[in-house]
Amino acid sequence: MIKVVKKINEMQFITDKLRTEGRSIGFVPTMGYLHEGHISLVEALKSHCDFIVISIFVNPTQFGPNEDFMEYPRDFENDKKRAAENGVDVIFYPSAKDMYKEDFLTSVRIKQITETMCGISRPTHFEGVATVVLKLFNIVKPHTAVFGQKDYQQSVVIRKMVEDLNVDVKIIVAPIIREDDGLAMSSRNKYLTPEERKEALVLYKSLILAKKEIERGETNSRAIIKKMEEIINEKKLVKIDYIKIADPDTLQDLETVEQRAVIAVAAFVGSTRLIDNVLIK
Ligand code: AMP
Repeated sequence: MIKVVKKINEMQFITDKLRTEGRSIGFVPTMGYLHEGHISLVEALKSHCDFIVISIFVNPTQFGPNEDFMEYPRDFENDKKRAAENGVDVIFYPSAKDMYKEDFLTSVRIKQITETMCGISRPTHFEGVATVVLKLFNIVKPHTAVFGQKDYQQSVVIRKMVEDLNVDVKIIVAPIIREDDGLAMSSRNKYLTPEERKEALVLYKSLILAKKEIERGETNSRAIIKKMEEIINEKKLVKIDYIKIADPDTLQDLETVEQRAVIAVAAFVGSTRLIDNVLIK
């Protein structure tokens, strides 16, 4: 039977006990409204861990003042059902009041790699993410935690935090799960109107185009980005936030693609901000 834990000290008690029993704890942090992408992260843990915790917490501190914190989709009962069906042992489901006491003062800031890509239009986002993830690690005490490549920059930021602060958690990054037509699964896809949903596909198409250009021998990042911009700009409901070709570890711009690279795109589709990426090996 799946267990729902709301209190921080109860969660710590459970995992403390499991650790003394020699069990291995796997952890998937989420904001809920679970889809196949989240479930794939649970699956990715099964070969590493024998006890799986997911957290469902729409973390207020990672949303900017004009972002969708209030509207963010929530459906706890359905999440609980899906988690139970997929072998999750505990859902950690805290309240914001318990996570952030009135006198909360601490935050985790990772420099440089948070100041590019999504960090430009969401300047406080990664500080909110890093702080909550470190809190969740201290509460859930996992041996292994898994993050999606979907939020590529987030995965780099978490890895860096874990490395710099000697956090004793193994980080796994799992591939992007897509709808049949290629759109990256996201809780935010729910916001899209049918017309926006059709146009949103151009993000993935632009990444495929970039990959093909590279396979064809194109190495100039500017030329690749220009081609991507051209097909995206044909869609009247889609407005590019950024397109970036970067080193996959440092997130520094690459002028040429002659080594490993990440190609990342963020765009507004109507009023919904979507992100996607591909890795060039
Ligand atoms: P979220 O609930 O959106 O904060 O996402 C929780 C975790 O699920 C993060 O590590 C995301 O990167 C991951 N995730 C979200 N969408 C996908 C997807 N389509 N495929 C794989 N992982 C995903």
